[in-house]
Amino acid sequence: MSPTSSPEPSADYDPPRSTCPLCGGGPLRRRLRDFRGHGIDGCTACGVEFMNPQYSDDSLRRFYAGYTCGLHHEGDTSHRRNPEVRRLGKRRTLELIASHAPGRRILMVGCGDGLELQEALATGWQPEGYDVDPKATAAIAERLGVPVHCGEFHDLLARTGGYDAIFLDQVIEHPKDPGRYLDTCHALLRPGGVLFLGMPNLGSISNRLKTFADRLRLRSRPARHYNTRHHLTFFRPSVLSKLLRERYGMAVLCVRSSMKPQRSQVAALFHRLGTVFDSSFLVIARRHRLG
Ligand SMILES: [Zn+2]
Repeated sequence: MSPTSSPEPSADYDPPRSTCPLCGGGPLRRRLRDFRGHGIDGCTACGVEFMNPQYSDDSLRRFYAGYTCGLHHEGDTSHRRNPEVRRLGKRRTLELIASHAPGRRILMVGCGDGLELQEALATGWQPEGYDVDPKATAAIAERLGVPVHCGEFHDLLARTGGYDAIFLDQVIEHPKDPGRYLDTCHALLRPGGVLFLGMPNLGSISNRLKTFADRLRLRSRPARHYNTRHHLTFFRPSVLSKLLRERYGMAVLCVRSSMKPQRSQVAALFHRLGTVFDSSFLVIARRHRLG
């Protein structure tokens, strides 16, 4: 497919969206088209960017059948996928959340291979998990002895709630209804509970330079950094913080680069300087204490 052509209409895609999947508003502006032919639109109301048209439900179901974080990245020997780097990153993140959460009951959404549930158990939390694969979630629940929910995420509202913390690390960029995900997460928190979101950073210097080059058509595989094979919505720290404040009345407690150990002291120094130097960022926000 040429970078300038659209994907052929097929069962793999929904009709194009005319409203934003995060805030429901608009109008939308075409930002660029990636090397797969996927359009990337920006919402002029909230500033988020997203793939448009989006994958159909069937297509996503097929893609996520059997998808787990650990298995999916098997064979990936990069620093960020190193098991010890992942484990330390999760542990430091949980310590940071603990410094803000009113209690220790935590729901870990997109719990993948169970690493974050394991780290939560080891550091004094009462964790519960959620993921999409029935076999993987049943196996993790049995191995760790903690509840791991499955099925439609939004149905959790009828079954559970009142969490001190909700944890989504590299999750919110995957579903095509991120606004509804945030609605559900907010409703599942007890008043004063905290929401943790970690995700790729479209606003990093590296990603800004790549986007700039792609808009000038300087690269042979444009917008590869959007990674539309896996990711549907693309966030900057300022966009997410503003949405959490204005839509939910949440207090944004922390916006920073990710807690993963860096590969060198120089990388760690830049990492501490701000979110623009990291390909991922995190936000912690508190639900209003009066509910
Ligand atoms: Zn929007």
